[in-house]
Amino acid sequence: MAKRIKVAVAGASGRMGQEVVKMVLNDPELELVAAIDRSNVGTDIGRLVGKDECGVRVNGDLEKALVESRPDVMVDFTTPHAVLENGRIAIRHNVRPVIGTTGLKQEHIEELDMLCKQQGIGGVIAPNFSIGAVLMMKFAAIAAKYMPHVEIIEYHGDQKLDAPSGTSIKTAEWIAQNRKEFRQGNPNEEEMIDGARGGYYGGFRIHSVRLPGIFAQQEVIFGGPGQTLKIRHDSYDRAGYMPGVNIAIKKAIELHGIVYGFEHFID
Ligand code: NAP
Repeated sequence: MAKRIKVAVAGASGRMGQEVVKMVLNDPELELVAAIDRSNVGTDIGRLVGKDECGVRVNGDLEKALVESRPDVMVDFTTPHAVLENGRIAIRHNVRPVIGTTGLKQEHIEELDMLCKQQGIGGVIAPNFSIGAVLMMKFAAIAAKYMPHVEIIEYHGDQKLDAPSGTSIKTAEWIAQNRKEFRQGNPNEEEMIDGARGGYYGGFRIHSVRLPGIFAQQEVIFGGPGQTLKIRHDSYDRAGYMPGVNIAIKKAIELHGIVYGFEHFID
């Protein structure tokens, strides 16, 4: 059997981290060698995610965990405050970062890219690991070439802090690249209630729905004479991100420098 890829998971006790731990334990090509988190230190991570004990205990010290377990890849789903330093520590120890934590600024991504290149390793940073969501964005960008009248509706849980979502902004950017900028709709349109027509981006509108019970959904609606086209993606569960994280772990081994965005792994 080919050598298994050794994986450390930072943020292993968190909602995304636990899904990553389960995915790694279920893949015979991967070996979980470390689980790092501030919560549940000392607990067997297999037990924590509802599986059998796996012999890997949650470690509160990332650097110590990497030195002891010598992983090939560190997957990070922590917090915007921790992720940059975690990435620096991983690269310093020759461990390829696969980062899903959001909130890294452009200059941080450039720094991690430079550090990786200095060490002769690669890594992946992706704000959205959902293959379906990336396809939805790609299909929307193609449709915008032929049907330039468009609106986006995104749906998330009512506790989400930012609006519109990062995915809807990214979708709007890709659409804008394929669509000559013009202001849609009636030039004399009047909003009878503030915000009724949604957020304005490059001539078209983005609407944010926030309700309990919703996880993450987005619809991109194109209108033309006598027809509409709807491209819709629904996320129901964090497990939906895992095929993307799995691909990124395996790709990271071959990379030199950071690849930013999961779309680069989809033809
Ligand atoms: P979460 O449930 O709060 O999990 C984060 C975990 O990281 C917590 O257990 C937290 O511990 C731990 N942590 C904080 N600082 C740490 C450090 N320095 N070292 C190690 N562990 C640390 O959050 P989540 O829902 O899993 O989301 C995590 C991140 O992933 C967020 O940035 C979210 O936006 C992002 N996300 C990305 C994608 C994608 O596709 N890329 C998808 C979904 C979510 P405490 O509880 O003690 O603070």
